[in-house]
Amino acid sequence: MEKVMIVTGGSRGIGAATALMAAKYGFAVAVNYRSNREAADAVVAAIEKDGGRAIAVAADMAVEDDVVALFKTVDEKLGRVTCLVNNAGIVDDPCPVAEMGADRISRMMAVNVVGPFIAAREAVGRMSTEHGGAGGNIINISSAASHAGGGGGAGTYVDYGASKGAIDTFTEGLCREVAHQGIRVNAVRPGVVDTEIHASGGLPNKPKEAPAGIPLGRIGAPEDIAEAILYLAQAEFTTGAFIDVDGGV
Ligand code: NAP
Repeated sequence: MEKVMIVTGGSRGIGAATALMAAKYGFAVAVNYRSNREAADAVVAAIEKDGGRAIAVAADMAVEDDVVALFKTVDEKLGRVTCLVNNAGIVDDPCPVAEMGADRISRMMAVNVVGPFIAAREAVGRMSTEHGGAGGNIINISSAASHAGGGGGAGTYVDYGASKGAIDTFTEGLCREVAHQGIRVNAVRPGVVDTEIHASGGLPNKPKEAPAGIPLGRIGAPEDIAEAILYLAQAEFTTGAFIDVDGGV
């Protein structure tokens, strides 16, 4: 049976590095994106150039119908998913809780929490040995922010930290719920990684400023996180595990 991985938010950053590495490990890869078709196509082209199999699939992870359609497209074009990487995530501009509006918090939770829940539901339905599946695994991308309470420093995104705290609890609970169905559920908690997410969250200088507070003296590369994800994708006796890939913070 072919190994099929869905990487949500696979068009850029950590997701793109994961998709590229997964193809080298023999996965057929669905590269999900929300709006940047060009970036997703570039990841697919790089995989195909090396002889791998990949497709780009647009879906907003905050929209349930989009998530359902994403899985149906993968069924038709690549086959039944064997590994889901719940990677798509957003931050927002630094903002104290005292000034946070419900719209902002709801959007954060919709993308970072509800999307991974719905994607996991779709994956479990296909992987579960109780539903005729052959098993599989789910890897949730949390963050060091889940135990730091936010992006670090006062007045940064506590809503983001709380969304990642929810992902940690989700991982703990789901792994117990589905272990007997042949499904493993694990998480990776990156520290500061060199991607465009910081600029999109109003902190473009964070990659330059962060190394001072990191014991290993540098921020992570997307590939540092992809390595941990690919380890978990293949670690057959590991479930409910969290790998902190953060340079020692
Ligand atoms: P990034 O460079 O900003 O890339 C985000 C990716 O997610 C893009 O592919 C984007 O698609 C996609 N995306 C955003 N919203 C989406 C939505 N509603 N539906 C579907 N796809 C969506 O982010 P990153 O830094 O690689 O972060 C990836 C994950 O790692 C996130 O969960 C983030 O919270 C976590 N993380 C990152 C860091 C870090 O320092 N970078 C640290 C800890 C945890 P488009 O290209 O279409 O916009």
